[in-house]
Amino acid sequence: MTTEQAIVTHDDVTRKMADNLTDPTRRGHVPPISTAPATSVATKPILLVDFDGVIHSYKTRWLGARVIPDPPVPGALEWLDNATNYFDVQIYSSRSHDPAGVQAMCSWIVAYAVHVFGSSAKAIDLINKLKFPTTKPPAFLTIDDRALTFEGTWDRFDPQLLLQFQPWYKRKKEMTDDKPV
Ligand SMILES: [Mg+2]
Repeated sequence: MTTEQAIVTHDDVTRKMADNLTDPTRRGHVPPISTAPATSVATKPILLVDFDGVIHSYKTRWLGARVIPDPPVPGALEWLDNATNYFDVQIYSSRSHDPAGVQAMCSWIVAYAVHVFGSSAKAIDLINKLKFPTTKPPAFLTIDDRALTFEGTWDRFDPQLLLQFQPWYKRKKEMTDDKPV
């Protein structure tokens, strides 16, 4: 399963992206990214990170897989960068099925990373450390704004109450962990 998964890598587009960042007429444009079987030997555990509502602040409604209108959640890019020291960080989203959606996420991350880190080289370094699988990989751990941690009993997961679930950015009242959802 793992070896069959297509992972979008960036080795072959790094130079083009760097060119795009330094050429104002092409800023923000990322060339088509090819998907290729995962060939690297990942020694770090996979940390699967959702995009919308986790990295992307997602203040605006969904506008399609290729449109990312809002800035990062504060600290998200710095956190991702640090996480790559410990994990094989893979970003997987409902955008991932669309190659243009993957490109949009890459462009967005690079553009904001340049701003956050103040360095195009650092932005390229970050994007090269991240992976963008097109199918869901078997992860050591997943970070998502629309998921619950199963703790061995179903008592907390009343289906009718689950219908009331709201992600953090839509929540008006803080939901506590000891409260069934
Ligand atoms: Mg999400």
